Amino acid sequence: MGGTKTLRRRRDNLFKQHPYCCWCKCKLLHPKFVKKGDTQPDNMATIDHLRNRLDSDRKEPNTESQSRTVLSCKKCNQDRGDESVKSLTKEQLWSRSGSYPLSIITGENE
Ligand SMILES: [Zn+2]
Repeated sequence: MGGTKTLRRRRDNLFKQHPYCCWCKCKLLHPKFVKKGDTQPDNMATIDHLRNRLDSDRKEPNTESQSRTVLSCKKCNQDRGDESVKSLTKEQLWSRSGSYPLSIITGENE
């Protein structure tokens, strides 16, 4: 069942391929450069779950949702938790992700 280790590997994999925020396109900082105890910078790379955020019913099995992860900066990840963003449709959210390569989002390169 996945867990933190899998997510970390997924994050590192994504980072190697495309170290930019899915939403604002900022260049991401790998968390390994953030010292323990330091304030986490806004552009720190975090894993964001497209599937969980976009689908309210969450009918998809976990194996599917696992691959629907993208890199997001810490700021966008937090911002997207806002109510205003939750009310956006999947298409609206998708268009916000702009040029983010679809193959990376769907995990086809793994
Ligand atoms: Zn961002």
